[in-house]
Amino acid sequence: MTAYLDHASTTPLRPEALEAYASAAALTGNPSSLHSSGRRARAAVEESREALAAAVGARPSEVVWTSGGTEADNLALKGLYWARRAADPRRRRVLVGAAEHHAVLDVAQWLAEHEGADVRLVPVDAVGRTDLDALREALADGGDEVALVSLMWANNEVGTVQPVAEAAELAHAAGVPLHTDAVQAVGHLPVDVAAAGVDALSLSAHKFGGPVGAGALVLRRGTPLVPLLHGGGQELGARSGTLDAPAARATAAALTAAVTAMPEESARVAALRDRLVAGLLACADGVVLRGDPVLGPAHRLPGNAHVTVAGCEGDSLLYLLDAAGVECSTGSACQAGVPRPSHVLLAAGLDEREAAGALRFSLGWSSTGADVDAALAAVGPAVERARRASAPARGSRGRRRPPAAPVAGTVAS
Ligand code: PLP
Repeated sequence: MTAYLDHASTTPLRPEALEAYASAAALTGNPSSLHSSGRRARAAVEESREALAAAVGARPSEVVWTSGGTEADNLALKGLYWARRAADPRRRRVLVGAAEHHAVLDVAQWLAEHEGADVRLVPVDAVGRTDLDALREALADGGDEVALVSLMWANNEVGTVQPVAEAAELAHAAGVPLHTDAVQAVGHLPVDVAAAGVDALSLSAHKFGGPVGAGALVLRRGTPLVPLLHGGGQELGARSGTLDAPAARATAAALTAAVTAMPEESARVAALRDRLVAGLLACADGVVLRGDPVLGPAHRLPGNAHVTVAGCEGDSLLYLLDAAGVECSTGSACQAGVPRPSHVLLAAGLDEREAAGALRFSLGWSSTGADVDAALAAVGPAVERARRASAPARGSRGRRRPPAAPVAGTVAS
């Protein structure tokens, strides 16, 4: 039996979402068509929009359906940047957190390379939390040139919960809108768009038990945005493309289930995670918990356990654990089979050698005590084997790694 401990990459579909998807997919009807089938599909989309909005403290009219988190992040950064720059050509500065997901960082970089953006990274501290003083300074230093701020709600690698409401307050005091990538937070932590005061928020269904390829950008009323996709003018022109009624229904069903179950589920998942963390720290020397050592939900995602293991490569451990039936992640990017140290860990001050031993376990609604038992039984022997394999061979000064199947072009999720 496999212990699936990679919920931060993608979460198994919740039964409610599967049922909602299947029943809606069996029906014909373009939500923009005027006949009865079209109106029925439109009703499914609008009911789902209402449910989604209610689950994140927004108005239904503020929800823009997208194909997931990456599209929502692209729409937010490019759309806000273009709109703000059009209103005031001086506004070319984009402030993004140094530990953001590539769906934000690479968009910012693209804007710098192709659209004249002046991108500045806002540093994080040793646990991966945004340095609000640095943000304050960045806003004070030429605030009238800042187009937008983008800071994630919770980090996908180390699970650190960010001071998003405080950051939004600072941004607004400087007259700047704030986007938050809440892909890892929605469905796992209480998220209230209005209470947090953010202007735009990205979410992704497959991180909370909905389908892959579905998500939304929640855009506060009155926030200017230039669309990325042009065509049929759906979503009030913010995102053209035929609306996906089954995906909308499944997303809303998954999120409603996640939010309803959250009080018990997050405590249950956090208790499993705490046991996993304690066991990981005890299973070998040189295992260090990364991210916030305070494990409460105000500090760290309930399902996140992230460690570095000294003297090991995280990807080697990953393959050894996989062979033992335990699925987890290194959390960081790897390109063309070559692992790269995590930019999140480097931003938090680790050196490349420390960052190389990263291992992320992420738990969610389907996780059980048996999954934790399986991980704890497998990690000690895997660490021992990986260390033996990477110890310098007799007569050789290089480090050898255990054979690991290369994975092409995977990106941290
Ligand atoms: N942002 C964060 C923080 C993520 O963890 C992910 C997941 O991969 C994404 C964005 C991208 O979301 P999606 O897979 O829906 O494109």
